[in-house]
Amino acid sequence: MDYRVLLYYNYTEITDPEAFAAEHLAFCKSLDLKGRILVANEGINGTLSGTLEATDAYMEMMLADERFKDTYFKMDESEGHAFKKMFVRPRHELVALNLEDDINPLELTGKYLEPQAFKAALLAEDTVVIDARNDYEYDLGHFRGAVRPDIRNFRELPQWIRDNKEKFMDKKVVTYCTGGIRCEKFSGWMVREGYQDVAQLHGGITAYGKDPEVQGELWDGKMYVFDERISVDINQVDKKVIGKEWFDGTPCERYINCSNPFCNKQILVSESNEEKYLGACSYDCATNEKNRYVVKHQLTEVERIEKLTALREELALAK
Ligand SMILES: [Zn+2]
Repeated sequence: MDYRVLLYYNYTEITDPEAFAAEHLAFCKSLDLKGRILVANEGINGTLSGTLEATDAYMEMMLADERFKDTYFKMDESEGHAFKKMFVRPRHELVALNLEDDINPLELTGKYLEPQAFKAALLAEDTVVIDARNDYEYDLGHFRGAVRPDIRNFRELPQWIRDNKEKFMDKKVVTYCTGGIRCEKFSGWMVREGYQDVAQLHGGITAYGKDPEVQGELWDGKMYVFDERISVDINQVDKKVIGKEWFDGTPCERYINCSNPFCNKQILVSESNEEKYLGACSYDCATNEKNRYVVKHQLTEVERIEKLTALREELALAK
């Protein structure tokens, strides 16, 4: 393992995000880093992979900059790059919550809970723990007992909370997300909505999984990540699988994208069902003429038709 994946954010003022992004991209490329960095007036959010030396040099440069000197870098060892390319993009917001009246986390945000205090909150009767991520992230893994908002995208979260407010009234509220950045704004928004006691997991699930005391305990399944690894382990104490296979419901933690490029749905699929369904989420998607599984596995037309016929017969029998 001589590579590393970094995850970090910092809400801080960047006056000219466009110019900063161009300069920063050149710097990252000079270190042969790969990944995605977003830059806005309100700060920076990035995830990067590179060699130990390159990531060390990157962190050193960032921490030497007055604007980023208190950045908290979360690190994972890795066997190679976790990204194919390097992007640094200027944006309006670091995470799109699309509020009419934006929240500045430097002025308004929930209390920070360190991993041990968060673990106690998970076990407390009077506290409701909200997963601030998307439904498909929750379904692969989450904290035991956490509330699952029924949302496909972060910007739907405020409305979902308003629609379900009876669940949270008169309770202490604690929120968590992957690395903590979504909760900075979301917990601030909860405070502005009138919730009295709002806290957030500092450093997110990533920090919780690395904490030497809690070691990820009370986390079930795997954590979804937005890079080529797709998911990582968190619980080092009593890990259990909670993901369910798309076709047969058996325990599964293997995410693929439907091989029909027009569908691209992300599903948990076993190796045998991937083969059987030509990497698709349904028979219809399997038959799509642009099916990527067919291309990737260089199936001949005869093989493709054989597989589809076998699949159709099996599905007919199952009816
Ligand atoms: Zn599909």
